[in-house]
Amino acid sequence: MNLLPHVALSSAAGVGVWAATGDEAAIPVAVAAGVLPDLDHLLDYYVRYFRFNWKYMFLLLHGWEYLAAGVLIYGLWVREPWLLAALLGYATQVGADQFNNRVKWHTYFIVSRALRGFRSMETLGRVDYRGYMAVVNVAPFGKERLMQWFERRTAQARSRAGAADGGVATASPARSPR
Ligand SMILES: [Zn+2]
Repeated sequence: MNLLPHVALSSAAGVGVWAATGDEAAIPVAVAAGVLPDLDHLLDYYVRYFRFNWKYMFLLLHGWEYLAAGVLIYGLWVREPWLLAALLGYATQVGADQFNNRVKWHTYFIVSRALRGFRSMETLGRVDYRGYMAVVNVAPFGKERLMQWFERRTAQARSRAGAADGGVATASPARSPR
């Protein structure tokens, strides 16, 4: 999912916690928890566009388990507004991804991905060749050149993969997991 919907959803969560608790830190905390997990895409981009390896999808900061652990900590030890804001902000991040991206029910469970060796075909059911559009969409300028760069890199990776496995790689026009 793209950056702006993540900002909007987590802001709304933060405003809700602020209104309910009076803690104004709730808003920046919720937005941070709702947006920053997407930084984990940097690793995936590095592996794909610089190492030309499309086999894996790591998304190390995306995991329903993190949310469950946080809820447990909130319930048992740290009943603070900032933690509530962080949890709700994070819930909007993973929840929006879960329901907006074409993913499997287990795609955003980190344990499930680890058990499947972080292999894209097993965790997502496909290889996401258009994931870079999320970056292109938020680029303030140079969208065209950025897109061409990603397309060149993707083509390079696919011709390498084609050479290796007989050209079975197929495109996926679908939305990408963010
Ligand atoms: Zn995401």
